[in-house]
Amino acid sequence: MMPLRSRILRLLGRGKLPWPCEETRIHSSEYIDGELDAAMKRKVRAHLRACPLCEAFFRTLRDTIAALRGMPVQAAPAGFADRVRKNING
Ligand SMILES: [Zn+2]
Repeated sequence: MMPLRSRILRLLGRGKLPWPCEETRIHSSEYIDGELDAAMKRKVRAHLRACPLCEAFFRTLRDTIAALRGMPVQAAPAGFADRVRKNING
């Protein structure tokens, strides 16, 4: 049976992808963090326009990162770091 990704792309009438899915997903976090140069950004964007599965992956990753960044930072209870160090060191 044809892999799901290939079936979806065929249904959407899209053929060969401009860049591998794996590369796109590996570099998605760097794209979101603004760490890619212009050429790499173009490759990621071109792939996302052509691949609905990676586009969904990218959107979910971006929204999750935004949600986590929006959460308040909690201070650790007093003595927490010392207890962790003690447990690590035995
Ligand atoms: Zn893809």
